[in-house]
Amino acid sequence: MRRLILILLVLLAPSLAYAQQKIVIDPGHGGNDPGGTGTGMQEKVIVLDVSKRFKTLLDADTADTAGGGRWATAMTRSTDVFVSLTARSQYSNAQNADRFMSIHANAFGDPSANGIETFSLAEGSQGAALRNLVQAEMVAAWKLTNRGNKVANFAVLRETAAPAVLHELAFITNATDAAKLGSATEREKAAVAHLRAIQRHYNIAPYLPGTPMPEPDVGELAGTVINDLGPVEGATVTLDSGQTMATDAEGNFAFTGIAIGTRGVTVTAAGHASRMVDVAIAKGLRANTEIELTRDDTGEPVNPDDTSGGCSTTGGSGAGLALAWLFAAALVARRRRARS
Ligand SMILES: [Zn+2]
Repeated sequence: MRRLILILLVLLAPSLAYAQQKIVIDPGHGGNDPGGTGTGMQEKVIVLDVSKRFKTLLDADTADTAGGGRWATAMTRSTDVFVSLTARSQYSNAQNADRFMSIHANAFGDPSANGIETFSLAEGSQGAALRNLVQAEMVAAWKLTNRGNKVANFAVLRETAAPAVLHELAFITNATDAAKLGSATEREKAAVAHLRAIQRHYNIAPYLPGTPMPEPDVGELAGTVINDLGPVEGATVTLDSGQTMATDAEGNFAFTGIAIGTRGVTVTAAGHASRMVDVAIAKGLRANTEIELTRDDTGEPVNPDDTSGGCSTTGGSGAGLALAWLFAAALVARRRRARS
């Protein structure tokens, strides 16, 4: 019975990874509670706008199957109404939310107070993991002071069953911060930062709905392995990324999907000294290379195409050397034709 359960769990695991996640977004304050005020703005208005933008992005991400994740979304308020702290948590719990994301803006009497901070109830939790990503994405998006990842015994964090975060966008009482809060363009960036954070939280590559999938950082490598006689068939070409293949009758090889950067390419072939070269792989481009091997002086056949009986440049008869020269000339001509 235990074995059966284990098998069932294994079968279920892949589908769970792609399951739709229920995200409850919690715009702070509302109605007769404006939240923080300053610089001509009210927190309740700013955070509702960012929350709605975030929900729109999550829903668009769900509708767009090219990338991103699948989300069910709900908001503790979507209009300018007062909702108690207890009601916010109860709503999330009734929704059986997977994550609860509260969005606020800071305010302080001293207008010099500024920056971004994000809270979870405790360290070492899923809430803390999401908190760290929200904070990192928001600091990257707005480039304001990073006040850090923090813990707090806030009611909405404590009473919500789902892993929960409470984000403070910036200080509505600080001129620099308020310039971000007051800009629709910047509020959209904040919403995108929240989207990226929740995507990364679920190990989904950050994806903006409606955009092409980001190209992976890979390039291609093609080349020919030769020796002094011409192409080397059956040479083993191995990349430091682990990919390996044998050269064809023309000595050619080609790899795709190689991680960009300087790649070490090792070539081995019977009867030849191994060789390693570095090749620069650029994103989306095909690098071409010709790698020349030196034949061992063992007298072993150097080329499977070689029907002249394994002639070598050392110790061969005069006729053998002449044959080898003709063979090499023919191969060079063949290569020239193949490339033209
Ligand atoms: Zn607030």
